[in-house]
Amino acid sequence: MSWIFWGGTLSDISSTLSSNIDSTDSSDRILVVDDTPTNLFILSKLLEAEGYQVDQAKDGPAAIALAQAHEPTLILLDIMMPQMNGYEVCRQLRSQPNTAHIPIIFLSSLDAPFDKVQAFEHGAADYVAKPFQPEEVLARVRHQMDLQAAKRQQQQLNIELESRVKERTQLLELAHNQLLEVALTDRLTRLPNRLSFVKRLSRVMAQSQIEATDSFAVLFLDFDRFKRINDSLGHRIGDQLLRGVARRLAQMSADCAAIDMVARFGGDEFALLLTDIADRLTVVKIAETILQLLSQPFWLADHEISVKASIGMVWGTPSYVAAEHLLRDADMAMYRAKECSRLPYCWFESDMYSHAVQLLELETDFRLALDRREFELYYQPIVDLERMKIVGFEALVRWQHPTKGLVFPNDFISFAEENGFVMELGRQVLEMACQHIADWDRIGRLDPELSVSVNIAPEQLLQPDILAQIEKIIHATGISPHRLRLELTERSIMSNRKLVDEVLHSLRRRDIQVSIDDFGTGYSALNYLHTLPVSCLKVDRSFVQPITSEASSLGIVPLIINMAETMRMGVIAEGIENMTQLRQLQKLGCKHGQGFLFQEALPANQARSLLNQPFLSDWSTETVSA
Ligand code: C2E
Ligand code: MG
Ligand code: MG
Repeated sequence: MSWIFWGGTLSDISSTLSSNIDSTDSSDRILVVDDTPTNLFILSKLLEAEGYQVDQAKDGPAAIALAQAHEPTLILLDIMMPQMNGYEVCRQLRSQPNTAHIPIIFLSSLDAPFDKVQAFEHGAADYVAKPFQPEEVLARVRHQMDLQAAKRQQQQLNIELESRVKERTQLLELAHNQLLEVALTDRLTRLPNRLSFVKRLSRVMAQSQIEATDSFAVLFLDFDRFKRINDSLGHRIGDQLLRGVARRLAQMSADCAAIDMVARFGGDEFALLLTDIADRLTVVKIAETILQLLSQPFWLADHEISVKASIGMVWGTPSYVAAEHLLRDADMAMYRAKECSRLPYCWFESDMYSHAVQLLELETDFRLALDRREFELYYQPIVDLERMKIVGFEALVRWQHPTKGLVFPNDFISFAEENGFVMELGRQVLEMACQHIADWDRIGRLDPELSVSVNIAPEQLLQPDILAQIEKIIHATGISPHRLRLELTERSIMSNRKLVDEVLHSLRRRDIQVSIDDFGTGYSALNYLHTLPVSCLKVDRSFVQPITSEASSLGIVPLIINMAETMRMGVIAEGIENMTQLRQLQKLGCKHGQGFLFQEALPANQARSLLNQPFLSDWSTETVSA
């Protein structure tokens, strides 16, 4: 049983009603539950006047049904009701998901046994004691409504925030995927790139470790002298060619189940991952098919282009721990395939690695050696074979290695040539040679005809600033240019005729002599040679060495000497080791010679002292008497 106490006049109520009308939200719905019709009526009017929609229930079951049906924003619930009291109604509402959250203000008569603590324990949001003051009811209702509004706003904000986070996450995912695609794809060919290949290979390796199997292999491929295509036909055609190669490889990969991935690593380097392969023969067959496929010419912008590929192959044994190691070895095998022309593909062997490590060490050593100026010049006399007089020296480089001792050029010159060190080495050699000439000249007057020959590597000769370099050194050391002779090999001379022609003529204009070294071992076009300003041919040691007293042992040496004479060039015979060779050469009219018979190459200071001695007189007599 409930009742209502009317504590004021009707006009009080109406003034309270009208003063609050603006602040309510018309969508707010309030369920008023009271078994006393008067209370229901007054409360409803009070709340409706505030702008709320009001539902009325006169008992618990009706209240639950209405709450379920309309899900009001707030419930005013009388506690003392017959049949089902307010606590029970509250309990049931709390047990239903759609009504559990609705705030409830309990209405309780002051004289009824009302336990505030119990009310809150049942889930009351607030309570109002009867007889109630309309202002208090409204204040408490409004307070709850404000709380609800704030809650809704909070929820709305949360929803918006969530959707914004979701949107951002999607955008980020999209960007991430795009970035990932860019990061994993080669832009030119659209093939996977190195990173992508390494990821895939690492997965395959991990899988094979788990399964304790080894049924995969890596092929590394590139094209011989691809740079030439770029240089001669331009990068656009070069790019088209790479795309064409990628298309052929991708097509082959689609047709061949064993090819797990084809990737481009950059430049003209491609890699293939083969998985689920039975044996090495399968790998070789795939390599052969690839080579055959790529040997078909490409038609690009009216050019028929043929390329030659080399392939390095490595079998994925469980001993490999990192994908990069497999790639390193496949790369190494590919270089081996390039070096040995027998087959354009090659398996990796473990000795290749130690060879590569040695090369790497040499590279580091060499760089340091250039920085620390560990290279020295030794000088071998060049002798006038008629007068038995030293007319010059050949400067021969030596590496004074901190641990290995004296290293000879045959052990490092080709390495220096292949690895781009020969330019700096050559510059240092030229500098040292000119400095020595200047020093010797300062100590005592040098014979006017004495010259020093310096070996020049092909790559060195083709440097665009070679003339400027030489001039600068001559100027800095103050030597007379005619003291300097450059020894060029036939290979240098034939490498770039136009450029060499220009350089040689410029050298001649500057009074710098040029000799052709190791003559007879290259492929000089003699008619071309004839047009060049070359002052001397050096007969290679391999022609001098076989010379005996037999006429048949002379080989082509007489021919070279005659030819040089015809072309008004000097001749120097290299590698004279014994008297027989000397005599034969003298008879043939060979003007100059060098060799161990006279003197091995000596350090600079010892070479200088030779100039002061009445040199070679001992066996010049012997020669004359022979
Ligand atoms: P090369 O220019 O033909 O030099 C002659 C080589 O033959 C020298 O070897 C010399 O010591 C050696 N030789 C001289 N007489 C005899 C002999 O009677 N018997 C034998 N068996 N050998 C003799 P080296 O000093 O070991 O130089 C080898 C090659 O290294 C040179 O051949 C030259 O091609 C190259 N080289 C030396 N110094 C330089 C340099 O400063 N720059 C460049 N680019 N190459 C150099
Ligand atoms: Mg030489
Ligand atoms: Mg030589």
